Amino acid sequence: MTRQGATTRDGTNAPPAAGSASASRVHEAFRHLGYGPAPEGDRTAREWLEEGERVFGHYVGGSWIDGAGDIRPTHCPADGRLLAGFRDGTGDDVDRAVSAAADALASWQEIGGHARARHLYRLARQLQKRSRLFAVVESLDNGKPVRESRDLDIPLAIRHFYHHAGWAQLAPSEFPGYEPLGVVGQIIPWNFPLLMLAWKVAPALAAGCTVVLKPAEYTPLSALLFAEVAHEAGLPPGVLNVVTGGGATGAAVVRHPETRKIAFTGSTEVGREIRRVTAGTGKHLSLELGGKSPFVVFDSADLDAAVEGVVDGVWFNQGQVCCAGSRLLVQESVEAEMLDRLRARMETIRVGHPLDKAIDMGAIVDRVQMERVEGYLEAGRADGAEIWQPDRPLPKDGLFLPPTLCTGAPPSSTIVTEEIFGPVLVSLTFRTPAEAVALANDTRYGLAASIWTEDMSLALDVAPGIKAGTVWVNCTNMFDAASGFGGYRESGFGREGGREGMWEYLKPVPPARGGRAASVPGPASADAAPAADDGVDRTRKLWIGGKQTRPDGGYSLPVVDTAGAVYAEAPRGNRKDVRNAVEAAAKARTSWAGQSGHLRAQILYYLAENLAVRQEEFAHQLRRATGADAQSARGEVDVAVQSLFTFAAWADKHDGSVHSTPFRNVTFAMNEPVGTVGIRCGDHAPLAGVIGPVAAALSQGNVVALVVPERFPIPALDLVQVMETSDVPPGTVNMLSGIHGEVVPTLASHDDVDQLWDFVADDLSGDSERLSAGNLKRVWVDREGAVDWLEPTGRDTAMLLRKATRVKNIWVPYGV
Ligand code: NDP
Repeated sequence: MTRQGATTRDGTNAPPAAGSASASRVHEAFRHLGYGPAPEGDRTAREWLEEGERVFGHYVGGSWIDGAGDIRPTHCPADGRLLAGFRDGTGDDVDRAVSAAADALASWQEIGGHARARHLYRLARQLQKRSRLFAVVESLDNGKPVRESRDLDIPLAIRHFYHHAGWAQLAPSEFPGYEPLGVVGQIIPWNFPLLMLAWKVAPALAAGCTVVLKPAEYTPLSALLFAEVAHEAGLPPGVLNVVTGGGATGAAVVRHPETRKIAFTGSTEVGREIRRVTAGTGKHLSLELGGKSPFVVFDSADLDAAVEGVVDGVWFNQGQVCCAGSRLLVQESVEAEMLDRLRARMETIRVGHPLDKAIDMGAIVDRVQMERVEGYLEAGRADGAEIWQPDRPLPKDGLFLPPTLCTGAPPSSTIVTEEIFGPVLVSLTFRTPAEAVALANDTRYGLAASIWTEDMSLALDVAPGIKAGTVWVNCTNMFDAASGFGGYRESGFGREGGREGMWEYLKPVPPARGGRAASVPGPASADAAPAADDGVDRTRKLWIGGKQTRPDGGYSLPVVDTAGAVYAEAPRGNRKDVRNAVEAAAKARTSWAGQSGHLRAQILYYLAENLAVRQEEFAHQLRRATGADAQSARGEVDVAVQSLFTFAAWADKHDGSVHSTPFRNVTFAMNEPVGTVGIRCGDHAPLAGVIGPVAAALSQGNVVALVVPERFPIPALDLVQVMETSDVPPGTVNMLSGIHGEVVPTLASHDDVDQLWDFVADDLSGDSERLSAGNLKRVWVDREGAVDWLEPTGRDTAMLLRKATRVKNIWVPYGV
């Protein structure tokens, strides 16, 4: 700070000397104290960058390679200075990196969890020793205030490596029956370059995967420095590979046939493209995408605290934060007061060079991004929004934007609906808590939310209603390695951090039976199914919204027995039927999710009871369909009944947890239903393979649109009668039959389906993955044949429960 009367660094004049030493004058003087420059030294960073002369290659197989790509510059956005050159990675470079990662895989896994833990621990240590250099390099390359890189980005990155050293140690005992995915491709954005690297690299290495990382073209430097540090720390060659370049390099990583998983953070647009490109390849995918996170302020909030929260929520890192609280929702009664206080606070926000330790906001990462933000502001103005910015000078050179508040924008304006990724806050009002929740959810995203009120029961009532992966109560932008982070809806899927994040790098070891049994019937045995139904002809129908319904098209399909004789007909559902089923599910969704686990369990037990008394009838249908012998058919019915018991038992036991985050707060990890689950069942185990997933989904509060087995639909269709007599609420389960190719694509592309489970795993499954890109629903294709429906294990049950829920982390600070 400068003394009173001096000229401040940003050019404003502090007021004249106070003159008197009286207390009130001193108090007054303090109000006008200005700031002087407090620059962080950058000599070590400049030396490392060879004063802008250095050209980096790619880090591949433990060596630096040049590759054939062009050299591109990276500049400091605050002053335009050239920092270094780096290579544009070509397809060949990516090939080499993936090969190196594949070569390293076996030995990285063989050394075991403890040895991997030591490597991760060493990486954390080495990062810690160089933390200041990392902070300066990060701020130079990205433009973020060094106060943030020094106090947040780098310490959190270090924390991730420590935390995951722990998971490496524990993985063999904590994840039995799982193995590492293999070579993973990781693509990270420019807003938190080292932190995003840590979020991705640490869990991957802990799980026993090897990595090809592609940093963002605007900010490659901290990843390159990290590669140097990892090399010096003795990380085995090929375990970590860094290939720099732009979007095309990222696309080559995504497309490479040997990357078994893609972990991506970035825009929803590119995430959607990656979903399409990886469809049908069997690659695992986690996407951490954009957001337009609500920042909800109730009239019961401490408004001064909420104002500070907004500053942190949307102007942290110049608003270039995926979970920025960029939509301020204020209760109408306190709007004027909140905005007055906010404007006054905005007047004090200092924008300046990122290496100045006393500034609040640094530079925008690149001119392209700055123009994108300005474009949004222009569009907002054209839509009638009032754009307010404090009247303070900005640095003359460099890419700087002031904190910005938009009011009066119509709800449909792009500044209200789109992720701006800049220092722009849009303010709206609400009247009641219900309206606040509705507005908060009025977005295609679902990454994070922040709720401000001193009324804890209100906060904890509202938090579960907001569709977001993270909810902060009276705080914002809190992160920790022990707590998973990730989105709902178009903010992507998958979690990073904690146990939740470790699952993203593991896959179930296929059962000893050697994968899925073929979906063909066994040979007809001597005591195979009876030849014909006696008595009255039965017409099976679809079951939609609790009613037996004729298919929209009015057609049926013949169902043949093992001898090839037609013995029944199944309704041939079409697109309209799928839409009706999804609509019926949507109507039932909220009330079923709101039921207690106890009640859901009662219904599942009742289903089990009613199925058990009809064991012979269902065994008969199984025998007729598949030619199974009487014993195995009865056995399958018994397994189905047991599944109902198992998931009834879990309905009130799949508890969440409280994470050990190292702050003064409680972080609840709540398991929530995913919503509407589309389930496609295969012909293997046509009864147990239907009951199992339906029971899992229902037990956790989901509703279901079910596509029954194509070849053996009758046992599943006959379940309608059991469901009807078991108090299953209308719309909770909806059953569709027909040709899968005619119904599944509509289910996969439907925007009101939140998740798709596919237990067939054929070409159509790949199409479904592609079609799911619209609303970015989670898709689980059980390609490994991991779930054994006829002999489900505890691991299978746990996997189904995990798939049937998603974790919402709610952070609640405490203390006085
Ligand atoms: P992108 O999504 O384009 O970039 C993220 C990463 O993906 C970068 O490493 C990028 O490479 C790479 N990439 C780009 N295209 C492809 C592709 N087809 N296949 C594989 N990888 C690819 O974000 P931008 O940097 O262009 O930013 C655009 C907007 O995205 C921002 O304005 C913001 O709204 C949003 N965004 C959201 C982030 C979040 O965390 N939610 C993070 C960053 C951006 P490269 O950058 O080198 O071209």
